[in-house]
Amino acid sequence: MNCLEERILKDGVVKSGNVLKVDSFLNHQMDVELMDEMGKEFYKRFGHKPINKILTIEASGIAIACGAARHFRVPVVFAKKSQSVNIDGDVYCAEVESFTHKNKNNVIVSKKFLGPEDHVLIIDDFLANGCALQGLVSITEAAGATVEGIGIAVEKGFQIGGRVIRNLGYQLESLAIVDAMDAESGEITFRQQ
Ligand code: 5GP
Repeated sequence: MNCLEERILKDGVVKSGNVLKVDSFLNHQMDVELMDEMGKEFYKRFGHKPINKILTIEASGIAIACGAARHFRVPVVFAKKSQSVNIDGDVYCAEVESFTHKNKNNVIVSKKFLGPEDHVLIIDDFLANGCALQGLVSITEAAGATVEGIGIAVEKGFQIGGRVIRNLGYQLESLAIVDAMDAESGEITFRQQ
């Protein structure tokens, strides 16, 4: 069992609606040492690739992406959620449905920070149905950049996102894969990796 899985068992809380709360160490209060350990592990899995940029989505992906960027020594770009419907020509844009809030957001990345010369590692905190990742992949492709891989902290293996993204042919690495969780008992089962 790795340190993220151990921490999830210790401090993660299973909520109804297939939501795992990790806000005491990942996405509200943040354990920076853990981010660094996770970044080291992403570097182990993707460090042989010519990655020159990390792309994530605000807000919860940012800290994890920064933990990885210290090991890759590359910049982090995060897709911003935008209310504006008048997206001008200076940005790449994708529509993303939020798993936790059930609403749709446009997410944008400035054309200044992503282009055909970029080899991108996409990072996010959770993978559920894959909507956020598909938005980030489509922004990367619109920029003419290359997706070198996708790193996720927690994949919920009982939802479809992982299968969809792997079927598209991307190298997807999840540090913890939850195969089952029960809101009543609080029990969490990880996939053996
Ligand atoms: P997807 O787009 O794959 O359906 O959902 C991924 C996004 O929704 C992530 O960026 C994450 O912020 C949020 N998310 C999905 N499932 C969970 C969950 O169980 N717990 C938390 N904290 N966030 C989740």
